[in-house]
Amino acid sequence: MTEQPAPGLPRLPWALLGALAGLGCAEQRAPRTVWLVSLDTARADAVNFAEASLTPRLSQLAARGQVFEQALTGTSWTLPSHVQMFTGQPPALHGVQDDNVVIDERTPTLPELLSDEGFLTVGVYSGPYLGSIFGFGRGFDAYWNAMEGGAELEARFRTAVQRGDRQAPVLWGVADLQSHRDVTSPRIVEQAREGIDTARGRDLFLFTHFFDPHYDYQPPSPYDRRFDPDYEGTIDGRDFFQRRFEDGRPLPLDPRDLQHIQALYLGELSWTDEHVGQIAESLANAERLDGAWIAVVGDHGEEFFEHGSWGHRQTLYDEQLRIPFLLVPPVDAGFEPGRNRELVSLSDLLPTVLEALGLPASEHVRGRSLLPVLRGETLEERPVLSSLRSRPFIQDEVIKHRLTDSLRSSTSKLVRELSLRNGEVRLADLRYYDLEQDPGELRPLRDLQDPRVRAAWAALEAEYADLRARRGALPTSPDAERRSDAADMMHGMLAQLGYRDGEPDEAIDPALELPWGLAPLPALDLDQLPKVGPGGE
Ligand SMILES: [Zn+2]
Repeated sequence: MTEQPAPGLPRLPWALLGALAGLGCAEQRAPRTVWLVSLDTARADAVNFAEASLTPRLSQLAARGQVFEQALTGTSWTLPSHVQMFTGQPPALHGVQDDNVVIDERTPTLPELLSDEGFLTVGVYSGPYLGSIFGFGRGFDAYWNAMEGGAELEARFRTAVQRGDRQAPVLWGVADLQSHRDVTSPRIVEQAREGIDTARGRDLFLFTHFFDPHYDYQPPSPYDRRFDPDYEGTIDGRDFFQRRFEDGRPLPLDPRDLQHIQALYLGELSWTDEHVGQIAESLANAERLDGAWIAVVGDHGEEFFEHGSWGHRQTLYDEQLRIPFLLVPPVDAGFEPGRNRELVSLSDLLPTVLEALGLPASEHVRGRSLLPVLRGETLEERPVLSSLRSRPFIQDEVIKHRLTDSLRSSTSKLVRELSLRNGEVRLADLRYYDLEQDPGELRPLRDLQDPRVRAAWAALEAEYADLRARRGALPTSPDAERRSDAADMMHGMLAQLGYRDGEPDEAIDPALELPWGLAPLPALDLDQLPKVGPGGE
């Protein structure tokens, strides 16, 4: 029996029918969208996705998502945190813990993994530590610098480094200072829109990095007065971080002025929220918002004198380690929105995105997918390791390092400060905090014999043992191949300081000079480790 066309409808040619059928199978679904928003320097207690007066657009997005209220980053500064975001590895494993190291080429990054899946990958960043010189551009079809004159400055820096020009450190300093003063959010929106337009019909991965909340705190009007309209003092957020004594300590600040500084910081967050909202609107106009997987995370927090200092990249206290973390699934994915208190890590972001897209987990990843939490399940608690490496400093003709690590559970934190001199590791300080009794981390327990301290030490060592085993099992590049352009620049700075001593250059590379290179710390025995006491070098 032959099929008869319905009366009044022309018979379609077979070839065209075939093409339509093909369209039905392969092309019927809407193009996928993954949007990753990084809010630089956003404190978790400020951006909690609930304050409609501070971040109305983010709160609106959060209404269809899952807010992780106990999320921690693996360090307290921009470069290693973003490598963690892109690799699913904590800084102690990925090894980018100083300016002079690049992401391992053999470790796949999030844009690379999505590019392999056919996504158009577009990134927009607005701080110098997100530059391509560290390997962040890998896997992006377009990776744009939103700082004013930023791309040109980056190119000039790179040329200066290649030529061994003494201007290189100056150019880096200029870029760094400019990033603090620049107001980049509107350019980020503009470039993100270009990416969204280009992606028409294709799967899109969009990464937007907002640097405006980072100091200097100088939000444009009306955000400059919104959270402290009655202030009549003279301080403003400009060059705030430069306000210090010659020895580097911060200048004391009148409590009323500090309150104003914090209001300016909130103004920056609110200003940024407005621009996140503009990108959401563009995605909605392109009919991509409802179907998108969206992640909004911070890279680290910010201190406002809770522990006697300001800014970040200084300590591993919670005001610098806790980050905002929001996951928004597609509207029709069937997940209930909500908030939870699971202890999660920035390393968990990448495996979550992979599972959300149905992609296999990467063997390089240390984090775990958080999709079970979206399904209403609870996770077995996994303590979070964070680490901070000081810039190397020269004293008595030797290069020294300060190495700080913390292991955070939902109820406690151990902070270990080590000093490294001539290859010898010594214990400078060990502090245990009972976070249920002392959430502000103000009353450390320093008794090395206390069973809680010893148990936390053992847990920290077990974490490092796991990282060493993982690194041993993974394909990794030799350390010498992982120098950034900034490594040569730092050589130049050390040479200018007079540190040569006839040593070959390799011997004074500040990061690779660690006896174990970029690998995780070696095993350390609390009872055998030489002690130098708090503040010891
Ligand atoms: Zn940052």
